[in-house]
Amino acid sequence: MRVRVGINGFGTIGKRVADAVAKQPDMELVGVAKTRPSYEARRAMEKGYPLYITGGGNPEEFRAAGLPIAGTIHDLLGKVDLIVDASPDKVGQENRKLYEAAGVRAIFQGGEKADVAEASFNALANYAVCRGKKTLRVVSCNTTGIARAAAVLREGWGVDHWEVTLVRRAADPAETKKGPINGIMPTFQLPSHHGPDVQTILPDLHIATMATVVPTTLMHVHVNHVRLTRAPKDAKEVTDAFRRTPRFRVFAPWEHADGTPQVMEYARDRGLGFNDMMENVLWDEGVRLDNRDAYFFQAIHQESIVVPENVDAIRAAMDIEPDGRASILKTDRAIGLSRP
Ligand code: NAD
Repeated sequence: MRVRVGINGFGTIGKRVADAVAKQPDMELVGVAKTRPSYEARRAMEKGYPLYITGGGNPEEFRAAGLPIAGTIHDLLGKVDLIVDASPDKVGQENRKLYEAAGVRAIFQGGEKADVAEASFNALANYAVCRGKKTLRVVSCNTTGIARAAAVLREGWGVDHWEVTLVRRAADPAETKKGPINGIMPTFQLPSHHGPDVQTILPDLHIATMATVVPTTLMHVHVNHVRLTRAPKDAKEVTDAFRRTPRFRVFAPWEHADGTPQVMEYARDRGLGFNDMMENVLWDEGVRLDNRDAYFFQAIHQESIVVPENVDAIRAAMDIEPDGRASILKTDRAIGLSRP
């Protein structure tokens, strides 16, 4: 039996999760829900994804656009075991009532407050405690990146304290109304919400985060200083641990991937769907060790890092795969993120 999955909200995250779900051997993509016709709705039709109307959308607009509609979000909810909510920030909280009324399990995104779901989720960090939950929240892109790295560092050497400065992209490439287009904007919420958000997954992680927004659309970059509990032998021991973990990509000096433009060019060369870079990106040259103090940069592709996590969250919520690592490998193989 394959898990029947619907996607409510077919924007940046929703369309990617839909493609990833459609590729999983143990899942069936039943349909996707859109508020209005758009180039994204056209692509859903072209991919053969049944299209449902959501968020008070007008069926006449879809008819006028020549986009066939399979029903409303209520019809979709009647056909699925689980819905992935990928609606805009804070809208998931509203949609939750629909899911409860329909009695379907739901996965929410990081734009919602933690209390939208029974637990916050990251596949490497806390898959086991999320098994069988009716609702889960896949944390935001930055929080996902930190949680993955935390899972590696804690397992290897323990973490006493961690300071992260997040250099955040101003907007996604299609978001032409957001900025800044010139300027560096400090976030005066101190600590930034990212540290407390990671603690919704790893409550005892000692972490402090600060953030600033810069005019780029390509990726976020995290500047990390971690005091480990036990000293690794050398920096290579740390990079090797990242390198052998799924969903990490460590660039070697000879690759000349000097920053986010080259990393995203590599993603285009590789040509996964949407030319995405779903792994945490590190550089050999960007890791330094001074006894128990590890310093490293990591880059996070905001539009795609949470996509495989959504797939694993479905398996955890449905409890169809007891082992988080096994789910990660299954997801990654189906998406094409297999490791050397
Ligand atoms: P988006 O604006 O690209 O897509 C949201 C989609 O939901 C749009 O197609 C919109 O028309 C639709 N929508 C509007 N009202 C709706 C409703 N009532 N019901 C269902 N759908 C509705 O947004 P996004 O970037 O995909 O973000 C979705 C969620 O994912 C947010 O919680 C966000 O914080 C989170 N997230 C975004 C990113 C990112 O970088 N874009 C990264 C990680 C997590």
